[in-house]
Amino acid sequence: MARYTGPLCRLCRREGMKLYLKGERCFTDRCAFERRPYAPGMHGRNRGKLSQYGLQLRSKQIVKRIYGILERQFKRYFEKALKMPGDTRENLVRLLESRLDNVVYRLGFAINRRQARQLVNHGHFLVNGKKVNIPSMLLKPGDVVELKDKSLAVVRQVVELTKDRTRVPWVETDFENLKGTFLRYPKLEEVTDLPADMQAVVEFYSR
Ligand code: SF4
Repeated sequence: MARYTGPLCRLCRREGMKLYLKGERCFTDRCAFERRPYAPGMHGRNRGKLSQYGLQLRSKQIVKRIYGILERQFKRYFEKALKMPGDTRENLVRLLESRLDNVVYRLGFAINRRQARQLVNHGHFLVNGKKVNIPSMLLKPGDVVELKDKSLAVVRQVVELTKDRTRVPWVETDFENLKGTFLRYPKLEEVTDLPADMQAVVEFYSR
């Protein structure tokens, strides 16, 4: 499965904001954006005002980068969101939030979405009792994510690092048994850690 393999901090610098793609490092003074808060490249410091198109493009890139998705798959999510009843912006966020790798991250079983994806790829999780190794699998409300017995030790160390993270109300974690439930789809306004204009994303693909 294709994924971005370049430097993550470069993505934050390109978007002009911290996207928190690395976990603990993002909260320290070793964060590259804290040290060099301008775009990478020779002209990075001279970036001018963005056009309407530029704003839409950047919003789309921010969402893609936060969830770690490449263009083709992201466009497929948008097309699916467009066909669903209701608000396309919210539908898109619901699809992204219900991905298995994202749910593993939200449950606190991974430091970041990238690690969540790797843990899922390596077959550490069961969904409703069945082994799954597809990070893009879309969960439905009520689905239960748990660790395979031999993976408990790996994730227990991670949970120590993530236990103080702010929890979201659409998932529930049983830290004792390292098990979690995707309770429901979030509302758009509940996803407060998504610093992108979802209307601009919709406009980008509707041009
Ligand atoms: Fe972005 Fe800073 Fe984290 Fe690097 S360390 S991914 S620049 S927030």
